[in-house]
Amino acid sequence: MGTAANGREKNMELNTAATPQLSRRELLAGAGSSLLIAASPRGANASAPSPSPIPTEENTKPFDLLIKGGRVVDPSQKLDEILDVAIHDGKIARWEKDIPADQARQVIDAKGKIVTPGLIDVHTHIFPYVGPYGIEPDPYCVARGVTTALDAGTSGAFTFPAFRHFVISSAATRVRALLHIVSIGMVAGSTPNMGELEDLRYCVPDLAVRVAEENRDLIVGFKIRFSEKYTGPNDLEGLKRARAAADQARLPLMTHIGGSYTPLPELLALLKNGDVMTHTFNSLRHGILDPAGKIIPEVLEARRRGISFDVGHGAGSFSFDVMEKCMQQGFLPDTISTDLYSANIHGPVFDMPTTLSKFLLLGMSLTDVIARCTINAAKLFNFGAEIGTLRPGAEGDVAVLDLAAGDFTFTDSDGKTRQWRQKLNPVVTVRAGKLFYPAAA
Ligand SMILES: [Zn+2]
Repeated sequence: MGTAANGREKNMELNTAATPQLSRRELLAGAGSSLLIAASPRGANASAPSPSPIPTEENTKPFDLLIKGGRVVDPSQKLDEILDVAIHDGKIARWEKDIPADQARQVIDAKGKIVTPGLIDVHTHIFPYVGPYGIEPDPYCVARGVTTALDAGTSGAFTFPAFRHFVISSAATRVRALLHIVSIGMVAGSTPNMGELEDLRYCVPDLAVRVAEENRDLIVGFKIRFSEKYTGPNDLEGLKRARAAADQARLPLMTHIGGSYTPLPELLALLKNGDVMTHTFNSLRHGILDPAGKIIPEVLEARRRGISFDVGHGAGSFSFDVMEKCMQQGFLPDTISTDLYSANIHGPVFDMPTTLSKFLLLGMSLTDVIARCTINAAKLFNFGAEIGTLRPGAEGDVAVLDLAAGDFTFTDSDGKTRQWRQKLNPVVTVRAGKLFYPAAA
């Protein structure tokens, strides 16, 4: 499977992703709001190419951008202190206790804010208009702290070319994909009797492998969903085919659990080191707890074998009760992700900062929470870039967040609520050195 180190060796950034511009779609979506106002390091005329190479005081400054005075939380470097972070040419240039403001063309005052590596969401659905799930990536990802989003199987071999052409190539968010093992992807949604694995003719490993090989720069693994409503009795056969594809392409496999036809231990037995289980903390049938609330031994054994356990909150897949029982047994998620799609962006998920807040209320430290959506996530897949860290030389991806104080109510996927006195909110996101703001509420 891929690693962040592999990613450094072959940086495959799309040019379009490195120079985000407002597309017609974003302009329409952002009318009347502050959505995606790409701030200019050189003032109002910066969108026009500079016609003159003559050095001026402005363009002789060593940094494009300085994020000043924030609490920098970067678990990859064990940082949690007040620091300034400088960005130049789309990369992290330096962090230090005090970098003078006049060293940069543009300065963000981050005093009182939290500054982290750009967040990585390893489970989203951001292929809009093809099936019921997909949302536009930029308003929900890069505008809200997430600089890299992994689409978890919305597209399959038949639909990935459209995803690549119409969405990934023009998104400001760095988008990577897990290709659904079923060639039609998730176009049918939850339509009764039309689940993607109910007709195994669409589940062809060779087809999935071919498309993955042709799109190695963007496809970082395969996805399969185990819920009886999407599989009928075919989940085990589907997994065997997904296993064959993953082995042939040497890519990891993300498996969605929750209400499966086949009991979980039989499915876990086919997973290998580097694979990821998502929706881990759901309250549905064939989950990770036994009737007494104990984690089943096969799950603990799978973790020892190198299988990672992701949150994938979603509208139906995250239970405070299950999560609390797991935490009491010392079983924390390896990564925290949203499973953002059309039916949960207005609750209970909303976005990544809201999802992270739920783990603060459950008692995890800010550092432990941020690790699970930065460096831990970066290690799972080969994203083709050095991300999840503010190490000098890494991608210039930064999230500036506010840890607001107040009285907040959070809701899980079962409609159960918890109160907490803090909530993380996105303030501004830096992606490859450019700035993005959340849309006005
Ligand atoms: Zn999902």
